[in-house]
Amino acid sequence: MLYFKTRVCHFLLAAWLCLIAVNLLTHEALGKPRALSRKRVNALDDDARVRLNAAMSEMRKRGIRPRVNSAFRSHAEQRALYRCSRNRRCRARRGIYGAKRPGTSMHEAGLAVDIGGVATGRRHRRRLTPKGRQTVRIMRKHGFKWRYGLKDPAHFELSPQRAGYRTEKAAIKAGQRRWLASNRARRRAGRRA
Ligand SMILES: [Zn+2]
Repeated sequence: MLYFKTRVCHFLLAAWLCLIAVNLLTHEALGKPRALSRKRVNALDDDARVRLNAAMSEMRKRGIRPRVNSAFRSHAEQRALYRCSRNRRCRARRGIYGAKRPGTSMHEAGLAVDIGGVATGRRHRRRLTPKGRQTVRIMRKHGFKWRYGLKDPAHFELSPQRAGYRTEKAAIKAGQRRWLASNRARRRAGRRA
């Protein structure tokens, strides 16, 4: 009987340790992209950032907790993502639907964001989740286009003209320049500190 009790104790202890480990791991996994995306959200075009913040607070009011998975991207990041998107295994591992050629994505202009949990199901059976339906409606209301629909359901973007740029190319150029300038400023501030 005592033997049995010790076995049960060991089992419970192991289960408890497992639970703690899983908790720590998921926190780690969830914590990182969030910290990363804050910097990326700050690097968005001013107009896009203001609209996104308004849309996010409206979503939160309705009980939706939006998860921004991607916002601004540098040319180098877009290049890496594009390369990954051409490979089925890499695409599945990183959970991306697709990526445009570097130099053509509105993420490089800071005018696009990817929001998680909008759709579910595999390619041809993909459909909006209830939360996704609300997200699309609210993002549209705040001026974002759901440009690729179910083909790339996470992706929302503001048209360059709406943000005051003549063309997509001009918006991308401005976005990349802004990113470099803010990085330089951060480095200078770091040296001063
Ligand atoms: Zn996107």
